[in-house]
Amino acid sequence: MSTCSSWLRCAPMKASWTVARVAGVAIRVHATFLLLLLWIGASEWITEGTLAGALAGVGFAALIFASVVLHEFGHAFVARRFGIKTLDITLLPIGGVARLEKIPTEPRAELLVALGGPAVNVVLVAGLAAVALLAGLPIGPPDVSGDPQLPIVVRLLWVNAALALFNMIPAFPMDGGRVLRAVLSMRLDHRRATRVAAAVGQTLAFMLGFLGLFGSPLLVFVALFVWLGAAAEVAGEELHAALAGLSVADAMTTRFEALAPEDTLGAAAARAVHLGQTSFPVVVADGLVGVLGHDPLIVGLAERGAEALVGSVMDREPARGSAREALEGALNRMQEAGKPIIVVVDGRRVVGLLTPASVGELVALRGALLRHAPGGAAATGPTAPARLAPP
Ligand SMILES: [Zn+2]
Repeated sequence: MSTCSSWLRCAPMKASWTVARVAGVAIRVHATFLLLLLWIGASEWITEGTLAGALAGVGFAALIFASVVLHEFGHAFVARRFGIKTLDITLLPIGGVARLEKIPTEPRAELLVALGGPAVNVVLVAGLAAVALLAGLPIGPPDVSGDPQLPIVVRLLWVNAALALFNMIPAFPMDGGRVLRAVLSMRLDHRRATRVAAAVGQTLAFMLGFLGLFGSPLLVFVALFVWLGAAAEVAGEELHAALAGLSVADAMTTRFEALAPEDTLGAAAARAVHLGQTSFPVVVADGLVGVLGHDPLIVGLAERGAEALVGSVMDREPARGSAREALEGALNRMQEAGKPIIVVVDGRRVVGLLTPASVGELVALRGALLRHAPGGAAATGPTAPARLAPP
């Protein structure tokens, strides 16, 4: 259905499991997807009254989702042509999501990656139509999956036609939204193209939602999904713009205290309160050996008491970074690894801490400056990071 990337837009999905790995891409199934299969099986059992009917219902649902997986591989295949890896494909009840390591910003690449998914459904429609014609099956009518009397080939054909059409609705997070943005950004800059495409998507969502009020709760749900998708895309783009050109050095906190492994949790708690510092690097002879985060400190105090030592609860494999690396890349790593902070080191020495709070502050301040001079010198000028960098 859609593709997503970037640290705020799309984290690895919780409550999902890898069920297969094809061409190096993990296929994951979300817990709610299994619930949907159970629900289909149960409702078919009730209406058909037989186990065979229930299994046929679940089997057809599996074929639909196989089409969705192939659609997602369409995106992954084209993305690979542009040197972009696909981290995983997750199946949800509403469709699939291919998580690319990044969304291509070059308009032609984004256009082709977005078209790759629906193109697979079009090819499947053509293939299934050929099979149906050769077998002498009637291809219409498009009263799709509801009619179990139609041959499976014909039902699957119409499902794929619907998948191609639905995904080409020009609204984020559907592929059509990305196609629209890519076409717009051949004329406009990327931020402006995103805003225009999101406005088109939200207008469509409003109209769909309004139509849905006259008897289709599903349409209202889709409208809400599209509306939120557009808002998330704009927020992600604004964040990307606010982070562009910044390095870790621009966002890191340089005033912090370190702990030693033999300090007590009680002493750590007192320092956390007095300094307002939530995570501490733990050092031995100036070398980093661990991190004591906020949550482990709280859990440690509750389970082991104030006399327990920092070394017994610290994370011994902290995320490290360099002051010179790109901020957006460092944030992506932090998200991927699920770490609360990145300790910025120069050789063995700790020189700063990158925390969500310090990044949030920088983004808020820089966003204000970008609004003051949209697309202007503040967005790209070499002086901007220096002006907003901590002293
Ligand atoms: Zn898609």
